[in-house]
Amino acid sequence: MARKVRPDPVGPGGLPPLSEQLQWRRRARNGSGRSLTDEDVEWVYQTLHSPAVPFDCGTKCREHNGGIPFCCDHSVAVPVAYEPELRLLERRTDLWHRWVPISRMDQRMVDEVDPYNIHVVCKGVDHCERDNRSISCRIFPFYPLTTRSGEILGLVYNEVLDSRCWLHDRQRMIAASFVVENLTFWHFLFEHLPEERELFVGISTQLRRTHSTAGTKPQVLRPEGIFEAPTRDGEGPLRYLGPLESHRLGLSGRMVPIGVTAQ
Ligand code: SF4
Ligand code: SF4
Repeated sequence: MARKVRPDPVGPGGLPPLSEQLQWRRRARNGSGRSLTDEDVEWVYQTLHSPAVPFDCGTKCREHNGGIPFCCDHSVAVPVAYEPELRLLERRTDLWHRWVPISRMDQRMVDEVDPYNIHVVCKGVDHCERDNRSISCRIFPFYPLTTRSGEILGLVYNEVLDSRCWLHDRQRMIAASFVVENLTFWHFLFEHLPEERELFVGISTQLRRTHSTAGTKPQVLRPEGIFEAPTRDGEGPLRYLGPLESHRLGLSGRMVPIGVTAQ
């Protein structure tokens, strides 16, 4: 996500909690030296505007978290903004400020990313400005699953909030327009920041291993519907599982070339 989930000190049985085991660095170290320009960030903000579902899903989960949607609660998850993104946001709004780590675990989260990636907090859900949400807010709760060679297969659910996110088992409800916009964004990002592609190739490999061990297969969302992805190296045809509900509603959205043959 868009978000780094704040780890609990320890999970059941002394193991790291599930959210931490599944934790992934959303942002790579900026090894290529390439950067997003203001125009790039503006373009991304214009591109990522559809909600994941056609209503405020925060109304579904907030009742289980003292009135605050889990992904907007900074004691649960902290968004990360690109340095040029934060610069742009600071010119547009006073909604955001840099997050100040307090505990050793907080500091560990900061140490995992380089200065190009900045943990940020907003003024809170009552002050949310839709047009000034971070990229992190706009893409949650999905990220791209890639093949070993870096081809994007589709969007996969981000487990960092596990079942606390109301959408975790309702992926058919995700709007095709959201999927299209997100895939367009990830293609753009991988072109502009190659280290992000490398990061997600690694995350995808890890996810496939987890599924392989469990005897399951990752499910990906594409504009055409939900598919089962191969586990070995991600190469090969996807198996069609069914449509997104938005197809039934005639809200398929614009198609983008994805470059993977679907069955
Ligand atoms: S994305 Fe998930 S956690 Fe965030 S508001 Fe919607 S249901 Fe809640
Ligand atoms: S900007 Fe809005 S969507 Fe993003 S974390 Fe804050 S309240 Fe949530």
